[in-house]
Amino acid sequence: MSGKLYLVGTPIGNLGDISPRVARTLEETDFIAAEDTRVTLKILNHLGIKKPLVSYYEHNRAESGEKIISRILGGETCVLVSDAGMPAISDPGQDLVRLCAENGIEVVAVPGPCAAVCAIALSGLETGRFTFEGFLSTARKSRFEHLEELKTEKRTMIFYEAPHKLRATLSDMVQYFGGDRKVAICREMTKLHEEVLRFTLRQAVEYYEAVPPKGEFVLVIEGLKEEEKISISPEQGAEMVLEMYSSGTPLKSAAKEVAAKTGLKRNELYDLALKMKD
Ligand code: SAM
Repeated sequence: MSGKLYLVGTPIGNLGDISPRVARTLEETDFIAAEDTRVTLKILNHLGIKKPLVSYYEHNRAESGEKIISRILGGETCVLVSDAGMPAISDPGQDLVRLCAENGIEVVAVPGPCAAVCAIALSGLETGRFTFEGFLSTARKSRFEHLEELKTEKRTMIFYEAPHKLRATLSDMVQYFGGDRKVAICREMTKLHEEVLRFTLRQAVEYYEAVPPKGEFVLVIEGLKEEEKISISPEQGAEMVLEMYSSGTPLKSAAKEVAAKTGLKRNELYDLALKMKD
């Protein structure tokens, strides 16, 4: 008889969010697979629990995953925890769950906080339909392809972001979604300096030009509202581009932003504006 895998959600900042069921599952399991054993040790110490830990993270998941599966097949129960929040959400875990499914092993969720879910609930934006986009790539090509794909996304979008990349990400978003798009910036949720700032993307860029971003962030961006699209000719669009250009926005960025607002083609706007400029 094989054991089970328990996916256990851990706090995203506040140890008070450990539920009695999370504590009991950690207490009763045979071993724990942890993304960072030092982080998990803190939780175990807080609960006064001692358990064998194995590490399971991005770069050892193939090898460690195989070992974990064979122990579960041998009858042991395993708890999987990540550094924070729900394992498998922008965290290692997805592969281990797939391996369990392939091996006929039962997987049980013991839910805890998830930053994406907390943020969409806090955002004040539409929650009926949303899409989780995780982290944008730092590689320019895939980052811009990702944003391009989302230009016409109507559902509310959720992104994770690191503080040192926040400014660049907000600026890129202005270019693809337009500066008037609403954003809720959920920072340090469940922690001492928790805050939710509700801006337009342009206001957010201006705010973080003055305030250095610190802590953990989730960005919740309003989806495209069809009725918001301005219906204008390419020549009028090119004039808008030139107006932005004369107040300091690079021509390419201005063309992108006007394209996002109007649905006109970015290249066409850029070429026209270039001609009209000369
Ligand atoms: N598995 C986690 C979950 O369920 O939310 C997410 C892990 S992901 C590697 C870490 C990212 O989640 C951070 O970079 C940040 O974007 C977001 N995050 C985690 N905790 C947060 C918090 N307390 N406040 C705001 N964002 C948070």
